[in-house]
Amino acid sequence: MLEHIAFSGLLALPLARKPKWILALCWIAALPDFDIFLGLHRTAFHSLITLLPVCIVLVTAARTWCPDFLEPAIFTSFCLLSHTIFDFLGGYVALLWPLIPFSLQLNIYILLINTGTNLIPQLVIEPFIAPLSEVTAPGTALLLSPLDVTLFLIFIALTITRAWPTLQPSLQRLLRRH
Ligand SMILES: [Zn+2]
Repeated sequence: MLEHIAFSGLLALPLARKPKWILALCWIAALPDFDIFLGLHRTAFHSLITLLPVCIVLVTAARTWCPDFLEPAIFTSFCLLSHTIFDFLGGYVALLWPLIPFSLQLNIYILLINTGTNLIPQLVIEPFIAPLSEVTAPGTALLLSPLDVTLFLIFIALTITRAWPTLQPSLQRLLRRH
């Protein structure tokens, strides 16, 4: 879960006009994994059929009624959709559940082939399709790894550094009150 928070935050950080929104909303990138508690992991909250309407409504509502919240609405949508895309690139996701009840996966990587005389890079794109049980069957899922924690700490450090000029006055006001 932490890797989703870190990835979406790190990707959005250079574009963010107000990085405090990233700190406040980054946890939303972990939200899709809560479909595991419904027994529908990588299905209900990972499907574009579920997520896209939520994102469209969120961004349209912010644009129409609260333009000040457009940036957080776009970041929230990015968190939700990037989660699914990251899972899909290297793992099975029921991307179009319930319309298409199959698990889909896309592997993209570059191989370096050593022919003995030359080194030839080769782009490999491998789409896979499997039954829905590939993602919903009981099993184990990686919850946390040292890489996830490292990425998350880098993300938090960078975001606080960028948001510090806007956070500092609020913190000083808070400290003066106590
Ligand atoms: Zn996931």
